[in-house]
Amino acid sequence: MTPNVTWNGTQQESFDLVSAVAHNCACEFGLMGVRVATCTAHQMLVEDQRALNGLIFARRIAKRLQSEEWEQVGDASTISMRDFRAAVSSAA
Ligand SMILES: [Zn+2]
Repeated sequence: MTPNVTWNGTQQESFDLVSAVAHNCACEFGLMGVRVATCTAHQMLVEDQRALNGLIFARRIAKRLQSEEWEQVGDASTISMRDFRAAVSSAA
């Protein structure tokens, strides 16, 4: 497998991704340990620049999205968790 992609993340992000791919690897190996079929996760590592960029973007923005999920900004379009639960329980 010759990579056709460029890693745009940090070295630690690379280690984490390789570890996750190894954990979920579904490659098939022959009796001598030679890879006879490459799984989609390993193919992504060497072929899919868009997926790699998307994973880096999602990883970096995930914490911010989680923190914003329950943030109260006083805007009419937002609702507090307490008000949300009250609305859900009253609808049931
Ligand atoms: Zn694999």
